[in-house]
Amino acid sequence: MKRYSALSLLAGALTGHRRWSQAWRTPELRKSYDVVLVGAGGHGLATAYYLAKKHGIRNIAILEKGHLGGGSVGRNTQVTRSNYFWPESAAFFDHSLKLYESMSVDLNFNVMLSQRGILTLAHSHHDLEALRRWANAIQVNEIDSELLTPGDVKRIAPLIRMDGRYPVHGGFIQRRGGISRHDAVAWAYARAASALGVDIIQQCEVTGLTIAGNRIRGVETSRGPITTSKLALCVAGHTSVLAAMAGIRVPVNSMTLQAMVSEPIKPCLDTIVLSPIVHMYVSQSDRGEIVLGGGADVYTSYSQRGGVPVLQETVSALTELFPAFSRLRLMRQWAGIVDITPDTTPLMGKTPVEGLYISGGWGTGGYKAIPAGGDTMAHTIANDSPHPLIASFGLDRFASGALIDEGAASGVAH
Ligand SMILES: Cc1cc2nc3c(=O)[nH]c(=O)nc-3n(C[C@H](O)[C@H](O)[C@H](O)COP(=O)(O)OP(=O)(O)OC[C@H]3O[C@@H](n4cnc5c(N)ncnc54)[C@H](O)[C@@H]3O)c2cc1C
Repeated sequence: MKRYSALSLLAGALTGHRRWSQAWRTPELRKSYDVVLVGAGGHGLATAYYLAKKHGIRNIAILEKGHLGGGSVGRNTQVTRSNYFWPESAAFFDHSLKLYESMSVDLNFNVMLSQRGILTLAHSHHDLEALRRWANAIQVNEIDSELLTPGDVKRIAPLIRMDGRYPVHGGFIQRRGGISRHDAVAWAYARAASALGVDIIQQCEVTGLTIAGNRIRGVETSRGPITTSKLALCVAGHTSVLAAMAGIRVPVNSMTLQAMVSEPIKPCLDTIVLSPIVHMYVSQSDRGEIVLGGGADVYTSYSQRGGVPVLQETVSALTELFPAFSRLRLMRQWAGIVDITPDTTPLMGKTPVEGLYISGGWGTGGYKAIPAGGDTMAHTIANDSPHPLIASFGLDRFASGALIDEGAASGVAH
């Protein structure tokens, strides 16, 4: 694989950009692999990369029914942070944030990580008390988090209306939180995995799983059967559909989550602002667009469009908190399918079928988890035993009752 560098960019420019090699190979599908990963989203690609890089397993196929990066990995609002309440989540998501911090160098691909801070707002005295408890828990987890007075909030984001329908009583910030370029993350892992020998097979839908004697033997696909002894489902919003092929019922609801961007404007917001109470979060992209997200549509659906009521609520919340944005035109709106577990904690690890692994339950917050998800799933698959960081994220927690309820603790999952 040719290294990307300032020199290679210059050489590319001088030769009219005609000599760039393909970022990843387009291999022929083989009949058998040591490991098959279903889904070329962030998690499938990262898992393949770490399996090849750290565990020396290179006879791997990633099967993707559409195109690489066409799922939620290319549809999200790019927020990365590790300010979770429970120690298990904090340790996992901070591992992820650290991997993000070195990703551009590790993968030789500029993912444009911008650690501009994520600011969470309190709109009442009670809100502030809950945020204080949350921020303290984050600090106990040894993760950066600072409580802010209303004056601090105004200094960080001067355009916020402090005394409107949602008065601002303060907030807290994780300064290491930020955004990165989501397509670049998918492409970076795809390029690095492909260079290590991983076959990324696009337009190849998994239609059935072959199981004999409670052990995975292979998959049925739209391009014929493939044998394997290790198979991981990395299909995010379709986790319950694929798990059902193995007779497993997973506790997830698949819902639509939408986002939207405005026309581009001059730089005016250099942090991410999130309001858990009105359920709106906003940032400004490098192109100047105001990127806006809200809560999931409140019904289960596989539609990737998103309904008008949530769009309307999200925009109203934005214009209430940032009146200056009320005259902007929305340019695009889109949606993806998210798989939400009852405790909003991921669903990762082994399944009751030998050789079948699951990496899902990412809900509305799995983009920030991509590097750690890949790293820990690769360990789990290679050793047939859960990585310590995800030992409590298994399916068995729904039988034991040992839930990690981030939904109730921190309330926001983006
Ligand atoms: C609007 C929106 C905003 C979001 N904002 C954030 C955010 O700011 N921060 C954050 O952390 N998270 C965010 N998320 C969530 C995050 O994007 C997802 O949790 C994460 O991308 C899911 O993991 P993935 O990348 O592996 O999934 P995907 O990219 O969806 O990959 C799964 C792949 O599996 C493929 N597949 C499905 N079924 C089959 C089959 N039968 N055969 C073969 N392939 C199959 C799909 O085509 C898809 O490409 C957001 C999501 C949305 C929709």
